[in-house]
Amino acid sequence: MQMNEQRNWHELSQEQVLLALEATPAGLSADEAVVRLGIHGPNRLPPPPRQSLLRRFLTHFHNILIYVLLGAALITGLLEHWADMSVILAVVIVNAIIGLIQEGKAEKAMDAIRQILAPRAAVLRDGQRHTVAGDQLVPGDIVLLEAGDKVPADLRLLKAHGLHIQEAILTGESVAVEKHPRPVASGSALGDRFCLAFSGTTVTSGQGMGVVVGTGARTEIGRISGLLAEVKSLTTPLVEQMAVFARWLTLFILAIAALIFAYGILVRHHDVTELFMAVVGLSVAAIPEGLPAVLTITLAVGVQAMARRNAIVRRLPAIETLGAVSVICTDKTGTLTRNEMSVVSVVMDGQHYSIEDTGYEPRGEMAMAGRAISLLDHPSLTELGRVAALCNDAELKRHQDKWAVEGDPMEGALLALAGKCGMDGGDERGQWARTDVIPFDARHKFMATLHHDHENHAFIAIKGAPEQILTMCKAQRTAVGGMAPLNQGDWRQLAEQIAAQGQRVLALAVVPVSPEHTVLEHGDLTGSLILLGLVGFIDPPRPEAMAAVAQCQAAGIRVKMITGDHAATAAAIAGQIGLQNAATVLTGAELDQLDDRALGEAAMNTDVFARTSPEHKLRLVMAMQAHGLTVAMTGDGVNDTPALKRAEVGIAMGMKGSEAAKEAAELVLADDNFASIVAAVREGRTVYDNIKKVISWTLPTNAGEASTIMVALMLGMALPITPVQILWVNMITAVSLGIALAFEPTEEHTMRRPPRPRDQPLLTGTLVWHIVLVAALFLGGVFGVYAYAVEQGYSQELARTMVMNTLVVMEIFHLFFIRNMYGTSLTWQAIRGTRVIWWAVLVVTAGQFAVTYLSPLQAVFATQAIPLLDGVLIVGTGMALFAVIEIEKQIRIRLFQPDRR
Ligand code: ADP
Ligand code: MG
Repeated sequence: MQMNEQRNWHELSQEQVLLALEATPAGLSADEAVVRLGIHGPNRLPPPPRQSLLRRFLTHFHNILIYVLLGAALITGLLEHWADMSVILAVVIVNAIIGLIQEGKAEKAMDAIRQILAPRAAVLRDGQRHTVAGDQLVPGDIVLLEAGDKVPADLRLLKAHGLHIQEAILTGESVAVEKHPRPVASGSALGDRFCLAFSGTTVTSGQGMGVVVGTGARTEIGRISGLLAEVKSLTTPLVEQMAVFARWLTLFILAIAALIFAYGILVRHHDVTELFMAVVGLSVAAIPEGLPAVLTITLAVGVQAMARRNAIVRRLPAIETLGAVSVICTDKTGTLTRNEMSVVSVVMDGQHYSIEDTGYEPRGEMAMAGRAISLLDHPSLTELGRVAALCNDAELKRHQDKWAVEGDPMEGALLALAGKCGMDGGDERGQWARTDVIPFDARHKFMATLHHDHENHAFIAIKGAPEQILTMCKAQRTAVGGMAPLNQGDWRQLAEQIAAQGQRVLALAVVPVSPEHTVLEHGDLTGSLILLGLVGFIDPPRPEAMAAVAQCQAAGIRVKMITGDHAATAAAIAGQIGLQNAATVLTGAELDQLDDRALGEAAMNTDVFARTSPEHKLRLVMAMQAHGLTVAMTGDGVNDTPALKRAEVGIAMGMKGSEAAKEAAELVLADDNFASIVAAVREGRTVYDNIKKVISWTLPTNAGEASTIMVALMLGMALPITPVQILWVNMITAVSLGIALAFEPTEEHTMRRPPRPRDQPLLTGTLVWHIVLVAALFLGGVFGVYAYAVEQGYSQELARTMVMNTLVVMEIFHLFFIRNMYGTSLTWQAIRGTRVIWWAVLVVTAGQFAVTYLSPLQAVFATQAIPLLDGVLIVGTGMALFAVIEIEKQIRIRLFQPDRR
């Protein structure tokens, strides 16, 4: 096969193409597909080459701050302060290591996302429909396309029904082009090859079927190599702002350092070398060099936590926005309910049938008034079963003893119903070939198929929302297969009754047509349908969704249901799920009557919207945003994309959602489950809190370290801690305590707080106050201990060793305080901490013991062993600091947020 080299597929007829590819419209066999996969390789673009570890390590040195540090190290070396120089160099290396950790974390997080978002494709193999991973496609595979799909490989179309494809990524043309299977002239430009569907383009409407002619790098998109290396960096607006802030802060600190240097020389007449070292120590301590990297780690941890809870973040800023969400607008089917449908009632010509067994087995009994019936006595059920089987794209499959659906679960339930009506779906589809189709669309809410048999009979099968179908009907079927005038009012009432029990209602109808009729158009349907009957489905609510709705209510987040389903069905399910005002339902038709102001009010006060079309979603999002709400909105179809894009957090369904919706969304739910949205909001709040915690710990700590030296220099005192010691403290705490907060779990009351206002600044007054307070307390602790040591007549070395340890101990206690920014730190859970926290504490403690008690290190850092009792005093100082800030927090909580303890 030289299929992949061939490029003129658009000139060939379908038969020639199939012949050349050794393929048939029924698809390859599973074995053949495996063989071809071996020959052609997976259908994916080759990944961009990875840089070597050393290279990546070195890139972390390319940074202004590092240059400053290297400069300082160089001068320190020239001054022959070897210890100081090595510690500064160690700081540089530590910083690069943190950078590497951050990069590794970020990469892992992005990989997880990529894997779950890998596209899937519907193919025919061995004559049966299967869903496979997009990278498993091989030349010769038969692929099915429908609205919202991303074309998974280059295809030569074999069938197309109203198929429109948007090819902007290839041709730049944003208007979708209509496709048809006829060959086109040999010289046609890419955009004019109407019989080809190109990998990576998006189906905007219609249905189609095509044979794969090119995969992986041998697709049109694969030939445009520039698109290959799509690199995303893990960042959000907030983290970027912090990085900018850190750069400005660095400049500011360098300026202050220069001033102090000048002041020290000109006014205080310090020794230049000593002064220089002190100023270097001060600057390195004050500059938050690790902050941007640690914030990125915080994000990566959040992305991974969300992925574990089935929420895949596609656009990273959403991590932040999620925490601020104040209303979640959700679909009903599959999100709040399980999307496991079964038909439980059928109404035809005044007869009410019921079905007991749920599940997809296409066998079983139908009953009337509690007693099983014989199909022989109810001949018109046969016709109903046929329509159910034909106007249907799903297939039922048996895995061991369980029946499962390939395709839409509602259509699967209809196939099971067909079986119970004595019809075999496969046989019917063999006998009645489908010649055309109007696919289901959330706007017109019905689906129709045209069928021909071999004996010159033809008819149209239709299913859809009862209100919609009824307006197109002219008559109804009688129990014995005749026709009778339609009683609109009765049917509407029946539909209402079934819906009120929480069932989804569908009407089935037929239109007999002449055999010459081969193209299906909307005009063929209006006013000519013969109604067969109504079918009611149950779709049980997800128990976890009820719990999640309750959680939202506690967290001050409103939940609104926006569904295409019937008002009564929507109200019944809303009640079961526990939505507020479940009984008040607004329908799409009612929304259309409202002007913008009335709509705004309705959007705020109503929680259930039914019989809506995707356009209503967009209007509702905008109305709520106008009232200051931060909106999360779910969607699955192509038509939902404007609403998904408009909402602050667009959420697409990973399983039943279209590729187009996924691409428009910020978040994709791997399990389509409402509870996962709430889990994502919770993680979003956690990440935001942790970002805040990292900043709240880093800035005051740095300020405290730096001001120790600064104050001493300004007052002309002896330094209470040497430059090399402060450099050491800065380094050892950065690798341990500094990173630990990125891994903090969710605080207990996180989902009992109202959502954070979107415009709330990060550096709030409270945070600034906290920085000032902690820096002041650090100073008090440091100089207090120093004064005590001098008082005791201790040597300068011992006094400084005590000060260094006091600094570290205070930082540890400050960390435990920050872990519970909102609540009490003295609970069992808070004290138990996380593994990361204890590792961090262990690393610092070990480091401190080494520097304090090991003689080689004592020589380098000019330290002395601390007597036991003074050790106790140092830990006591840390505890005192903790007590003061904890009491201050408790007072603040009680004064300003009495409800939030
Ligand atoms: P939901 O918000 O519950 O997902 P949809 O927009 O999917 O609602 O469906 C709206 C209505 O359209 C359903 O209540 C049903 O009456 C009808 N409908 C849904 N799917 C199909 C289909 N495949 N064929 C025909 N009608 C359908
Ligand atoms: Mg739906």
